[in-house]
Amino acid sequence: MPATRHLPTPESEDLVALTREIAAKELAPRAADAERSGTFPREVFTTLGRAGLLTLPYPEEFGGGAQPYEVYLQVLEEIGAAWASVGVGVSVHALSCFPLFAYGSDEQRAEWLPDVLSGERLGAYCLSEAHAGSDPAGMRARAVREGDSYVLNGAKAWTTHGGKADFYTVMARTSDDGPRGISCFHVPAGTPGLEFDEPEDKMGLMGSTTATVRLVGARVPAGNLIGTEGQGLSIALAGLDAGRLGIAAVATGLAQRALDVAVQYAKEREAFGKAIIKHQGLAFVLADMAAAVESARATYLSAARLKDAGRPYGREASIAKLVATDNAMKVTTDAVQVLGGAGYTRDFPVERFMREAKVMQIFEGTNQIQRLVISRGL
Ligand SMILES: Cc1cc2nc3c(=O)[nH]c(=O)nc-3n(C[C@H](O)[C@H](O)[C@H](O)COP(=O)(O)OP(=O)(O)OC[C@H]3O[C@@H](n4cnc5c(N)ncnc54)[C@H](O)[C@@H]3O)c2cc1C
Repeated sequence: MPATRHLPTPESEDLVALTREIAAKELAPRAADAERSGTFPREVFTTLGRAGLLTLPYPEEFGGGAQPYEVYLQVLEEIGAAWASVGVGVSVHALSCFPLFAYGSDEQRAEWLPDVLSGERLGAYCLSEAHAGSDPAGMRARAVREGDSYVLNGAKAWTTHGGKADFYTVMARTSDDGPRGISCFHVPAGTPGLEFDEPEDKMGLMGSTTATVRLVGARVPAGNLIGTEGQGLSIALAGLDAGRLGIAAVATGLAQRALDVAVQYAKEREAFGKAIIKHQGLAFVLADMAAAVESARATYLSAARLKDAGRPYGREASIAKLVATDNAMKVTTDAVQVLGGAGYTRDFPVERFMREAKVMQIFEGTNQIQRLVISRGL
């Protein structure tokens, strides 16, 4: 049963209906096979881009849909419900576009934004390093100015779309001045010295390629610096506020889907002479799952409405990421329980949902880091 939504305009209702149609036709039927074989569905991003679903929150002057974040996130939730890897990919792509959109010069925006916002060029976001995940200020990758270029050296770990993206938004050190010594660069695929390790062999989300990006004397024009030297970490962290809302929406979609599968199964499966949903002990598990999905949705919508109003929303974005991903972990785990032995097999999708939910508690700041952000603001 699809989520009941309260959308602000008839146009936004049409957008959600269009997303459901594309998700049902192009995403959901392919997800299980692609996840099993580890196939990255690049063409799906082109489809979503051409349907205008990747540009929703951006102004019309850049070819965007000028939709509030509240609407964009509900569209993203629908994508995540159909295929979590694609939902995560859309969210990471938006994250990789953010520095250019928010901090790029007029020339940079005119040159790169149309193709990156339309999804013709897919992005990746390179902040983490092997020894510096939760604490990115400890990064070691370096960018050294040589004449009209910067030369980048180092390794960026865990890059979603590593080796598949058309451009990489890379944070690298331009001085030893701690968090103020980091800068942000636009690095196109095909730049000599931009290399990739074999993709990580993960527990789930195999349709989303994750790989270490190696910078081996990768030279980019000085004009590819986004913002000013030393501004990189604040750009990266500002992007993560919005990115966390994206992950919260995808996690909510995943949890909604797990709930839907569990409810349908509980209506069909019988034990002790009646459908298992008629046993109150199990119906209450489903009720708790429904409450968890609704409360996750409420937290990300509440943060999105603050963002749309131009108000600070960083703490609320952390709350949304924490609540939505912890709830997704609980709901998907309970969905396996509702299906009993069947839930533990690959004949049903809920075991995959459970594996997909786990990583959402880890990336874009682990849920311990979200608690750190929330508690610092108290
Ligand atoms: C599938 C996947 C995709 C990813 N995609 C990207 C991407 O596209 N771009 C990118 O830049 N990164 C990406 N990441 C990296 C991700 O953001 C990091 O894995 C994450 O930030 C955690 O860093 P870490 O793995 O180094 O863990 P660590 O920082 O080593 O943390 C280990 C444990 O210690 C805890 N911990 C650390 N510090 C504290 C503290 N101060 N208080 C309490 N607990 C603490 C953590 O919560 C965690 O439980 C991805 C990761 C995965 C798994």
